[in-house]
Amino acid sequence: MIDPELNLHPDDEHNRELAANVHPADWRNPTPEGRYNLVVLGAGTAGLVAAAGAAGLGARVALVERHLMGGDCLNVGCVPSKAIIGSAHAAHAVRSAGAFGVDVTGTTSIDFAAVMQRMRGLRAGISPHDSARRFAEAYGIDVYFGDARFTGADTVEVEGVPLRFVKAVIATGARAATPPIPGLHEAGFLTNHNVFNLTEQPRRLAVIGGGPIGCELAQAFVRLGTEVTIIETADRFLQREDRNAAEILRSSMERDGVVVRLSTALERVQEKGVDKVLSLRTPSGEETIPVDQILVAVGRTPNIEGLELEKAGVAFDRRGVTIDDFLRTTNRRIYASGDVCLPFKFTHTADATSRAVIQNALFPGPKKRLSKFVIPWCTYTDPEIAHVGLYPQQAESQGMAVESWEVAMSDVDRAITDGETEGFLKVHCRRGSDTILGATLVGGHAGDMISEITAAMVAGMGLGSFSSVIHPYPTRAEIIRKAADAYNRTKLTPTAASLFKKWFRFKRRP
Ligand SMILES: Cc1cc2nc3c(=O)[nH]c(=O)nc-3n(C[C@H](O)[C@H](O)[C@H](O)COP(=O)(O)OP(=O)(O)OC[C@H]3O[C@@H](n4cnc5c(N)ncnc54)[C@H](O)[C@@H]3O)c2cc1C
Repeated sequence: MIDPELNLHPDDEHNRELAANVHPADWRNPTPEGRYNLVVLGAGTAGLVAAAGAAGLGARVALVERHLMGGDCLNVGCVPSKAIIGSAHAAHAVRSAGAFGVDVTGTTSIDFAAVMQRMRGLRAGISPHDSARRFAEAYGIDVYFGDARFTGADTVEVEGVPLRFVKAVIATGARAATPPIPGLHEAGFLTNHNVFNLTEQPRRLAVIGGGPIGCELAQAFVRLGTEVTIIETADRFLQREDRNAAEILRSSMERDGVVVRLSTALERVQEKGVDKVLSLRTPSGEETIPVDQILVAVGRTPNIEGLELEKAGVAFDRRGVTIDDFLRTTNRRIYASGDVCLPFKFTHTADATSRAVIQNALFPGPKKRLSKFVIPWCTYTDPEIAHVGLYPQQAESQGMAVESWEVAMSDVDRAITDGETEGFLKVHCRRGSDTILGATLVGGHAGDMISEITAAMVAGMGLGSFSSVIHPYPTRAEIIRKAADAYNRTKLTPTAASLFKKWFRFKRRP
């Protein structure tokens, strides 16, 4: 039987396999011997990467996890959400098959329990990577289960056992923020912490929050057959993103059948029989809607409570642990990595910052700076919305003049043949040059394609150089070469154009 404390439901073979890997029932914490080179608090992506990297280089490492190894990404984040999105994508493909000349009328139905079972199976299948035994046996790391808290500037305690360290990394992540809305707690609600435990499909679901997590899950649930209303206080989704990208997403979600309520605030929740009744303040007045389940996705709160950071002299605020450009906290022995300290709360940033922490904390010599990172991200809706680097307004606020190059997805042959012409690429360059400052890519597989631009930015390759990068035809990534061609066309000055004309006239002479 799975320990109820682990919050893994249902108690089936997949969740039992997951629990056996990420929090084994028979685990015995080791007995520490002397000081550790590195004590890592939290075994999500940031903690696992820091611990494995340091141990791989020969350091003595302790890794402390209070709940599930793998953290949010494996257990209640990226992996289960993308598995469900995979099923939703399949459902959508079947529904859209008619447009491709494929007749599937009358043959489709969605088995929600099977969708969730598939997700649990995939999650369990991935979990050996993050397993306690692997980290203990393959890396020689001392893995402790329990709450970690600081008892001094160089000591952490877990289950009453002191762990002394030369260096430590706080990698305790973040959790769903829950707004103080009257009646919400009494009525009960879902967050990413428990939504993946569902085995029965909610008939009517309200999603509170139009950020990446809210949008991804709203679209997935509607495609799986739930009636979804999404409520967002701002006048658009994904406030960090390009306005046109957010607008494309809004219309895509509406076409899927999501009821979109922008500029709308949830004011109160009341239980009426089996219904949870939401009172909304909309631009056109008060409105109430009854639903079966509420999913709250209004942001993330860093996990700093109970760490007793004051005892270690580590400063923090409501955004998390305070760090400098080298990921160091106000205690020079202690670093932080991942969601607990970053505004960019992604698995790949948790990974990247932990790699930097290994270098900065454990070795002398050159240090890695957070401000030098080129950070991409993607919201896995349909279409996907990917971005890297700066937006024009950010670049301008840093004193850089910006010029942008835009190509529509409808100009890309592969997007046309795939019937997915919605979207665009915008590449933002420093005015008067092809130095890429940032880019937004909207369309199918945008999350994969953005890496080509990220690689160029890291390597210092300008947009114009993409004109000579041969892309296989037909692929959607040709959109990047097209943006380069658009840039290079502007390099053809009137003088150069007239010289070319003269040259060709000369070559045509009899
Ligand atoms: C629904 C959802 C979908 C997402 N999808 C994506 C995606 O597609 N791509 C992407 O890049 N990112 C995605 N993310 C974000 C990603 O999951 C996080 O950025 C990533 O997990 C951060 O890793 P972390 O190690 O910093 O924190 P976490 O994964 O939160 O790990 C922190 C660990 O510390 C433990 N801990 C906390 N306090 C203590 C303590 N006192 N003692 C011991 N242990 C402690 C926690 O139990 C946890 O296991 C998603 C998030 C959610 C919620």
